[in-house]
Amino acid sequence: MFKGTLIRSGNNAKTIKGDGEYETAIMYLAPFTMAGSNVCPMAEQAGCVKGCLNTAGRGAYNNVQQARIAKTKRYLASRTAFMADLVTDLERFVAYCKRKGVKPAVRLNGTSDIQWEVAHYASRGDARGSVFELFPEVQFYDYTKVYKRAYRQLPANYALTLSYSAANPAYAEVVTKAAHETGANLAIVYRTKELRDYFVGKLVQYGNACRDVIDGDETDMRFLDPKGVIVGLYAKGKAKGDRSGFVVG
Ligand code: SF4
Repeated sequence: MFKGTLIRSGNNAKTIKGDGEYETAIMYLAPFTMAGSNVCPMAEQAGCVKGCLNTAGRGAYNNVQQARIAKTKRYLASRTAFMADLVTDLERFVAYCKRKGVKPAVRLNGTSDIQWEVAHYASRGDARGSVFELFPEVQFYDYTKVYKRAYRQLPANYALTLSYSAANPAYAEVVTKAAHETGANLAIVYRTKELRDYFVGKLVQYGNACRDVIDGDETDMRFLDPKGVIVGLYAKGKAKGDRSGFVVG
């Protein structure tokens, strides 16, 4: 288990067939406007605030919520200091993975939707750039509702999966269009495990096109998913009761 100031991993390195073993460290911030300013620019439009996975797992505890808020306030108060802390964490995590003989994977938006590829510069030694440029040895990945990110030329070590919500038909339309036009994978949260299982392996219509559904809960390593699929997940935490349209079924 790795525990940094901003990112942490469980003790759950996963062996991926033919690709060795990865350990994922995740950064959990306080989503939407919980810490004062919005770190999820599309959350209102996508209608995902109530069903946010922020309350799943350790997020159910009040002290964990308070820690996430404090962390997010630090990000909002000084991006430069925050990025410096992140670089320190990433360096430590890379060294930890090296000692353990596993590959480092990092999700920066565990419970936020920040565009890390834009205007988030940091320094590592003499080098300056995005964390993706500074840490080519790390595989980064995230889910996003900021569909315009799928149209960008993203760094080779950053995999983004678009996140579906039918809470607002206008959002559902643009995100499925972005998935179709860019080939980006699209994650859909189903109400129950059984419903997800029902769709896995089937061709499902999204927008005006069809795609295969894969089981997205088997592993969280979205960067290893085949391209052009729907990533089927089942609802956890408060999301189970979501009726906004974010959770399907
Ligand atoms: S589901 Fe994602 S975008 Fe929506 S509020 Fe939660 S972290 Fe933000």
